[in-house]
Amino acid sequence: MASSSATDTALVWFRRDLRLADNPALHAAVQSGRPLVCVYIHETGSDTALAPGAASAWWLHHSLTRLGHAIESIGGQLVLRQGPASQVLPALCQEAGCSEVFWNRSDIPQIDARDCRLASELAGMGVRARGFRASTLIDPQRHLNGSGAPYRVFTPFWKAALKELDPREALPAPIRLVGGPRLVSDRLDTWHLRPTSPDWATGFDADWTPGEDGANARLDSFLANRLIDYREHRDRPDIEGTSRLSPHLAWGEISPRTVWHRARGHAERSGQYQQAEKLLAEIGWRDFATYLATHFGDFRTTNFNRQFDYFPWRENPDSLAAWKRGQTGIPMVDAAMRQLWTTGWMHNRTRMITASFLIKHLGVHWRKGMAWFEDTLVDADLNVNAASWQWVAGSGADAAPYFRVFNPVTQGEKFDPDGDYVRRWVPELANLGGKAIHTPWHQSTDMLAKAGVTLGKTYPEPIIDLKLGREQALEAYQSMKADAEAATALGIDG
Ligand code: FAD
Repeated sequence: MASSSATDTALVWFRRDLRLADNPALHAAVQSGRPLVCVYIHETGSDTALAPGAASAWWLHHSLTRLGHAIESIGGQLVLRQGPASQVLPALCQEAGCSEVFWNRSDIPQIDARDCRLASELAGMGVRARGFRASTLIDPQRHLNGSGAPYRVFTPFWKAALKELDPREALPAPIRLVGGPRLVSDRLDTWHLRPTSPDWATGFDADWTPGEDGANARLDSFLANRLIDYREHRDRPDIEGTSRLSPHLAWGEISPRTVWHRARGHAERSGQYQQAEKLLAEIGWRDFATYLATHFGDFRTTNFNRQFDYFPWRENPDSLAAWKRGQTGIPMVDAAMRQLWTTGWMHNRTRMITASFLIKHLGVHWRKGMAWFEDTLVDADLNVNAASWQWVAGSGADAAPYFRVFNPVTQGEKFDPDGDYVRRWVPELANLGGKAIHTPWHQSTDMLAKAGVTLGKTYPEPIIDLKLGREQALEAYQSMKADAEAATALGIDG
């Protein structure tokens, strides 16, 4: 237990900012000169109800292990506690004799609202809470258009951001911490963040190194080897052409500011300016999702375009299950859904294809797809995921128009031209040559037999005719528009 003589300690509450470098809350706490208590709270209870999904929990386990070691190596302790933060944090402050608590804002609307209440409770106990902005490049509150209103469209948002961005260097990691009282800590294993029976995460180990060192290594290797081709390769799921920084960014193991400076520095040395600008614009999309959530509220539950409240979604449990398992009979969709299950990650192009297929061809509500991604992605980011699902659905800010229905076959032929992506993730089709792999149902019985494929047996028949699915989607859209307009005429809100 805490030594009772401990006074005037500072507490740093780690959340989705599992890093030492460029961590404004940690930096300010160290600057305060007080002995520090570092804590991570595994939040349970109903005060946020936003626990990480299963794949993210796997990531969290490993990331906390590494953060704990890093903090110990510079003289501190990472205390692990479990329970509702609104109870655990005040209790910890008393136990450790803290007069100040430092944390970085979550940028998730419900969590930030809860944290404001928590800060008032702490103030009532004589503890000062200090919040910092750490997860985005742009301060959403300050970044407004010429009329003082928030941006709704990405391009002007990002153009203006590029002019205004604060070029402050990333903050250094502390070299030494003055540890506060040593506290009792939970054993990480007792939180059961990793799957056991079955251990569906065996494929994750090969792909990922969670933690701050892993994040830095990933960025260095991407800049050195792949940035040069990023613009040409980033849309190709069959090529390892993107940074795969997303889980590291989602867990705050590296800050967007660090990525910004390192990418710019690399561009200056190598001349790869356009490639770096493209990468940074993607980081800009990440910022935009948080920006929208800050200004327009919770996208996980509410359509940005309220006309979509009238969308005639179909209850389609069998199709939803086939989509989740990668058994739809549409190779590009199945490859992507299996990549997600096996590795906890999916390429951006195939995220768009699979989301469009679920929403439009199958008519399933985007929220059901969003929930599956939240559970299965190691990079699940509540703001980005919700904004992206709404982008595909057509209900989001600056969204793709609803009637743009991705055709998974033509997408496959364009972005996986030799079929290698499908071949890797859908091995039962591996012997179908070239583009034929994208349309097994169009191939002759002879060709299928030679490739060892029996539709309906070794690989499913398509669960929907793509042309019919598209027509149904467009009809549903027309019906939504008619209902929404009728409701407006009657003065009924969505
Ligand atoms: P890179 O191309 O190397 O991009 C660098 C970084 O920029 C990424 O790590 C990510 O932080 C950011 N980024 C890239 N593309 C986007 C984008 N379209 N929108 C916002 N940020 C972007 N990304 C998540 O981080 N978490 C999610 O939960 C998530 N859910 C998505 C759901 C759907 C339906 C779709 C279409 C996209 C989703 N994305 C999500 C965005 C994107 O697919 C991933 O960020 C990207 O595939 C991650 O791979 P990468 O790190 O190699 O990307």
